[in-house]
Amino acid sequence: MKKSLIGKNLDEFSDLCIELGLENFRSKQLFNWMYRNEVNDLTELKNLPKSLIEDLKIGHCIHPLELINSTNSSSEKTNKFLFKTQSGALIESVLMNEKNRVTLCISTQVGCALDCKFCATAKMGFKENLSVGEILDQYLLARQKINKPITNIVFMGMGEPFLNYKNVIKAAKLLNDPNGINMGSKRITISTAGVISKIEEFTKSKEKFKLAISLNGTTNEQRTSIMPINIKNSLDELLNVARRYTETVNRWLTFEYVLLKEINDSVEDAKRLLSMLAGMKKCKLNIIPYNETDGEFRRPDKDQIENFVIALRPAKFPITVRWSKGTDIDAGCGQLATRNQV
Ligand code: SAH
Repeated sequence: MKKSLIGKNLDEFSDLCIELGLENFRSKQLFNWMYRNEVNDLTELKNLPKSLIEDLKIGHCIHPLELINSTNSSSEKTNKFLFKTQSGALIESVLMNEKNRVTLCISTQVGCALDCKFCATAKMGFKENLSVGEILDQYLLARQKINKPITNIVFMGMGEPFLNYKNVIKAAKLLNDPNGINMGSKRITISTAGVISKIEEFTKSKEKFKLAISLNGTTNEQRTSIMPINIKNSLDELLNVARRYTETVNRWLTFEYVLLKEINDSVEDAKRLLSMLAGMKKCKLNIIPYNETDGEFRRPDKDQIENFVIALRPAKFPITVRWSKGTDIDAGCGQLATRNQV
């Protein structure tokens, strides 16, 4: 299998230059071709000698992913992209068009190991981690296809980003690199189901990207019943690391809360949420009315959602309700699962 050039950082391009017996300034050229000039074929690398291109071609390719299909939702506000990895696995990304914002939701793993009961990706089980190149290429290929700038990236597609931590952080750094894609760190959000050790690592290394935590429950019992990760990463500990995060980095933290009918949608839940998040510095709460998949879970009725939101009114922190886009093409949160395997 050929190694992809997309996914390498400048140091890795330098190593490649040593391997191929080239002067180091070539590493910068290769970096630019990949992330600034967005080339698709090695022959497009015009400032490189032909012999070098021939050498490169033997063991390397540019893109680790192949675009298999893209769909538009009826509202034309959402596009879903299906990609094939080099190992033959299928992954999805979703593009959401709003007024001034074009957000791409990207995958970090094939399948997922966490088994959240309400999530379609969980049904696939865990298949493999995506490489740095496979994470990044979802952005590069989607961008070419839509032919307009993507303003925001959310790591909220298939998989648990913090169980593929090293590759996710490396990909985020490449997206952010001012010499390359140059997407601002505040426009890059990583969402975790609550892997405590990795939230600690993220805090300690003071990563500048935005963090979101999927809370989804207000008691341990309730959260464990829908998110088995809560057995080893309990609610109290999760809130403690979240608090330490906001105090250490002084950045906004988003809590996501998927609203599930008769599971976590009562007024008592809303009140518990208020007290859980009361002392938290700089946090936001994002309520996501459930997008139904083939499972047993349901979205609460409009009245219930409204009651829940009304009960949250005393909150001192900002609250948003996210009506997912693209649910008609199964591109809403938690609806990503690749049925057609190659
Ligand atoms: N594993 C990461 C990122 C993927 S899920 C995480 O858990 O954060 C992204 C968000 O979608 C999470 O907040 C998750 O709880 C939510 N979600 C999952 N399935 C959903 C569904 N069917 N409807 C609405 N939101 C869902």
